[in-house]
Amino acid sequence: MAGVPEVKLSSLYQQLILEHYKKPRNRGTLEDSTVEVHMRNPACGDEIKLQMRIEDDVIRDLRFLGEGCSISQASVSMMTTMLKDRPLDDAIALARRFTEMMHGDPEAAKDRSLKDLRALQGVSKFPIRVKCALLGFDAMQEAIRQTRSDEHLGDVDEG
Ligand code: ZN
Repeated sequence: MAGVPEVKLSSLYQQLILEHYKKPRNRGTLEDSTVEVHMRNPACGDEIKLQMRIEDDVIRDLRFLGEGCSISQASVSMMTTMLKDRPLDDAIALARRFTEMMHGDPEAAKDRSLKDLRALQGVSKFPIRVKCALLGFDAMQEAIRQTRSDEHLGDVDEG
């Protein structure tokens, strides 16, 4: 896209990103999802639709559909591989850590718990592309927020 700077990363990281971009994990539709969020990044033209099945504060399953740049699509693909059967609090902690890395925190960039996502750390030098990398995480956090606010509404009847 015009106006979006090209991101140069080390070849190892570039390969990992392209591998996820070409063979995205958990891409598709989830029939029994409990929440669905559609996010756009107009600056780059990225789109992600994320579906999750959340039960008892645990992400039981998740799928995404999307289009856009390799950074946005690889990031959400990597994210989905790390969230199945994980408690919501772990998912939020992962999003927080990844966001810290994308904002240039050197400690977060060394955090091995980020696994393949560390391949995206070089993107932090390109502020306009940071939104690409965070799009899937924004969708995931929004889905959790919606799930929790639905539960909260349910609680009102009991109180
Ligand atoms: Zn993008």
